[in-house]
Order: sequence, then structure tokens, then C-alpha cells
Amino acid sequence: MTNPLASTQIVIGEALKRLGYPEEMFELLKEPLRMLTVRIPVRMDDGKIRVFTGYRAQHNDAVGPTKGGVRFHPDVTEDEVKALSIWMSLKCGIVDLPYGGGKGGVVCDPRKMSFRELERLSRGYVRAVSQIVGPTKDIPAPDVMTNSQIMAWMFDEYSRIREFDAPGFITGKPLVLGGSHGRETATAKGVTIMIREALRRRGIDVRGARVIVQGFGNAGSYLSKFMHEAGARVVGISDAYGALYDPEGLDIEYLLDKRDSFGTVTNLFESTRITNAELLVKPCDILVPAAIENQITAGNARDVQASIIVEAANGPTTLEATNIVTERGILLVPDVLASAGGVIVSYFEWVQNNQGFYWTEDEVHARLEAMMVKGFESVYAIHAARGVNMRLAAYMAGVRKMAEAARYRGWV
Ligand code: GLU
Repeated sequence: MTNPLASTQIVIGEALKRLGYPEEMFELLKEPLRMLTVRIPVRMDDGKIRVFTGYRAQHNDAVGPTKGGVRFHPDVTEDEVKALSIWMSLKCGIVDLPYGGGKGGVVCDPRKMSFRELERLSRGYVRAVSQIVGPTKDIPAPDVMTNSQIMAWMFDEYSRIREFDAPGFITGKPLVLGGSHGRETATAKGVTIMIREALRRRGIDVRGARVIVQGFGNAGSYLSKFMHEAGARVVGISDAYGALYDPEGLDIEYLLDKRDSFGTVTNLFESTRITNAELLVKPCDILVPAAIENQITAGNARDVQASIIVEAANGPTTLEATNIVTERGILLVPDVLASAGGVIVSYFEWVQNNQGFYWTEDEVHARLEAMMVKGFESVYAIHAARGVNMRLAAYMAGVRKMAEAARYRGWV
């Protein structure tokens, strides 16, 4: 099953059942509480109007305001955004943030749009969803193919609409506009910490460990850098167009220098480049899918050669593949835990904005580290004690607080 919403619902249902919640709780949590579809007219540089479709899903606000990124991607669908909002709820639950999950998306290809077209689209999106978002309602952030410049335009648009400066409306902003130290690298830092914890459980030394990172966007590129700095051997990387693999290790500094702002770099290696599908089954110790959904499936899960998979992307491994890799003894650190570093530092950014008091990079890193390790330990403990796979364990850890909050509020 590759519909992300349908597979998430299966695991949510299983997690709630094992925690002893009644069917009504599943009815409440299986879909977002609110889903807004918008149409955004944008004047393109050639003078013509193009109308883009956008979404904002708010999964559940029992715990607090909803939180989650906005992605700009040609394949965005309503079900995908719904599933992503549920995953945000789970992430916030696992690492114990005072948020529920939200997510947004616009069907577009930013690689084919100019800077000014992107600005108009970003502002148009905020105008279209402005009624349901805000610093105490629903707080957007970057996601696939959106960045701090897009957050800056969205922040500016929202502040103009509301007629006051509202930095707490959105996170992932540039530092000069109230962004946080460490936000840009946060997802990758969090994944690095998860890899370290997983290696420890498996008794493998990070020095010399072979890593494949699929995807060279925000998470994937910084992760390659951190793993390289930690002494691991990054043997494979990829972008949307292809992949590079070298068992001796790739020249990560060179690749980081050559990548464009969307993480494209393999086009410089036409003659040696392989496909993303080929990369996933190459020899390595740690495989990190850091791109998009449905990459490890029933079709290739038996051929994966890694002993650890850490999901930096949202939803890269299907349910069937999760079962296959677990049966094969591979330690899987699921997305809702592994990629929580981004939203953790977004939370720090929001706290700093609300207080008007800013932290040092060291403070951010120390707190990020503590929260990620605690999240890992709580998921691993459920996995070990209940004999469930790491994904189900993560869902059980993630859904608990939300279900409790809903019960106290008298919703179920
Ligand atoms: N888009 C990121 C995620 O999927 C970050 C969300 C946030 O910072 O709110 O976790």
C-alpha cells in the first residue's frame, strides 16, 4: 500500500489499540480536524496569470497549536498533505513539544519559477490561508523545496495582513528576522544524533562506517557533511536526477560546493551517475533516505544491504517494506522520530520569538541533543518491551500525549 494516508491510518489504529484506546479515539485521530484547499492566482513574469492549488491541513490541536512545514512540489496531493500533518502530530508527541501537527503544500515546481514568481506565490499562499494560521493557531515552517527566503516573504505578508510584527507566525526564518541559530542544520543534526544512537545499539563505530544518503536537499546535504566530519565514509548520495556511488567514499566537500539551491549536483557526473533505485541497494552500513515518500518498498526492501536505516525524509519506507526490513534484522529509525530535529528547533525559534530573547548556538544544540536522545530512548524502550517494530513503537509514543489531551478535554 503506497497511499501515505491509508498506511498511516493502519499504524495509528494499531498503536491506539495496543494502548487500549476505544475506537472513537481512532475516529478522531485518523484524519486532520481541518483541511483547507485554496486556489492561488499568481501573475507570472510573462504577464499571464497561473492559478496554483494549495493545501493546509491541521491534524489535531488538543495539545496546542498545530505546527508543520509547507512544501512546494509538483507531486503534492491532498492525501499526502493530510498524512504529513498526522506525522507532524506524531513527531511533536514523540519529542514532547506543546504542539499538534499541521502541514501545507502547493502544487508547483519552484525549479521552473523565477525568484519574483516564487515571492508572489509565497505571499499568495499566506493570503489564502491567513484566516486559519497564526502564532497561537498554526505555525508554518520550511519543508521540501521551501527555504528561509520563502519563510521571510510569508512572515512579511502575514505581518502586513495583521498590521503587527508577528515573527512567531512562522519558523525557519533568516536569523536577522528572528530565526534561530541552528534551525537550518537542525533536521540533519537530529538525524546525526539518531545514527549515533542506532550505531551504539548495534556496536558499530561511526569512524569508517559506510553511509548512503539519498537526497541532497536541506537534510541530506548537511547530513553528508556531518557524517563526513564524524569520520564516516559517505559512499553514496543522490538528487532528483540520479545518484553517485563510490565504495572508497565521495568527495563530500566538493559536492557540497557544487550543489545548487535545490540540491542538484549529479548532473555534473553524467558518465558515472547511476539511478536512485540502484543507489538504495548498494553496499553500506547505514542507509538514510532523505528525499521523498515511498522509496523503500516491497519491491526493493529485500535487496537493501544496510544494517541500519534512518529515515530523514517523511514516509520514505512503505508499511510492507517496514515489515520486511524488520524481519531481516535491520534497525529502522522511523521518520517521525529521526526527522524531528527540524520541528524541535522550530519550537525553540517560536519560544525565542515569543520571549524576544535569543539563545546561542550552543544552547540550541545542547537542548536539541537532549530532546532527540530522550525521544530515541522512549521509542526504543517501547520497541524492546512490547516486541513491536520501531515504527509502531514510535506511533505508540507519538499518539499517547495527543490521545490523553483529547480525553482530558472531553473530546472522546
Ligand atoms: N518540515 C519539517 C518537518 O517535516 C519541519 C516542520 C517545522 O519545523 O515545523 O518536520
